[in-house]
Amino acid sequence: MTDAGITQIANDIIQVQVPLPYALNIVNCYLLRGATGWTLVDTGLNTEAGRARWKSAMSALEITPGDIEMIVLTHMHPDHFGLAGWWQRHSEPPIPLIIPEREQRQMRPFYERRNTPLYHQWLLECGMDEAAAETLESALHNTRDLTQPHPRQQETLEAGAVIRLGARQFRAIHAPGHSDGQMIFYDESDRLMICGDHVLMRITPNIGVWPHSEPDPLGRFLHSLQALMALDVRLALPGHKWLITDWRGRIEELLAHHHARLALTQTALETGARTVLAVAAQLFDMDRLTPHEWRFALAETLAHLEYLRETGLASRRTNGQKAPVEWRPPGSRDAAIAP
Ligand SMILES: [Zn+2]
Repeated sequence: MTDAGITQIANDIIQVQVPLPYALNIVNCYLLRGATGWTLVDTGLNTEAGRARWKSAMSALEITPGDIEMIVLTHMHPDHFGLAGWWQRHSEPPIPLIIPEREQRQMRPFYERRNTPLYHQWLLECGMDEAAAETLESALHNTRDLTQPHPRQQETLEAGAVIRLGARQFRAIHAPGHSDGQMIFYDESDRLMICGDHVLMRITPNIGVWPHSEPDPLGRFLHSLQALMALDVRLALPGHKWLITDWRGRIEELLAHHHARLALTQTALETGARTVLAVAAQLFDMDRLTPHEWRFALAETLAHLEYLRETGLASRRTNGQKAPVEWRPPGSRDAAIAP
């Protein structure tokens, strides 16, 4: 990697590492060269450091915004989506932007501030108190602000579509779990995968239940990983951390990780943890996490609890709008009230 954060992956593919203001401090974006221009996959957050990285990468590569023919997003999370609007403003008409269809549907509830009460309620149901919930909400607002301006024009992409990125043909594959509509892109002829945040080295993708999530993201994630094991992948280009050269091996590790976490979640319930927060405190070292990271710990814990509930290994009882939801192992007292 150079000072401009660029790494040549193949003759026609460049990785650009764009800084993030978090413990997870880099998002990997990709430029694919074609006969008529470059395709940009994912963009980074709209921070000064993010924009500066793109400017130095572009000057090192001797390309201008006019050379970008298309922007493609794997999913709508801020670290991938945040600079899309900034990029589009570089040309008139705006650079065409393609986003998975399901991701576009979820963008509005995710980014609109008027949905804050729902998010507040979700935090209280997880077992947070009012003051802690407010701290976590302001962390969310800060991140949302780093995605402005939003893109003016968007086209959507359906699973199974064949799409040209640069000079290559990719098949768009629906890869749910980390987000409901994430798409990953498979170039079968070169056994190359652009895998977004679906499969990552060193860290495991955050699988979370959020206020607007479709049910059981962990179940859908594990199912998707099983199906993806069948694909022959020589090299996968992820949204964070290192390139992936052992596709099946890494998938096996991710599957094992979540089964171990599910066992820990069950143990937490059996030893008396009753709220998402109490279970999270047994799964994560919460004292070492920032408010930004707490949200992910809660959402991830809830995904494991929901999976256990789907498979009959946990039950939940709601206690009114602003009270924590109560979780129990099967067969325990009161569990029959609300399976
Ligand atoms: Zn990401």
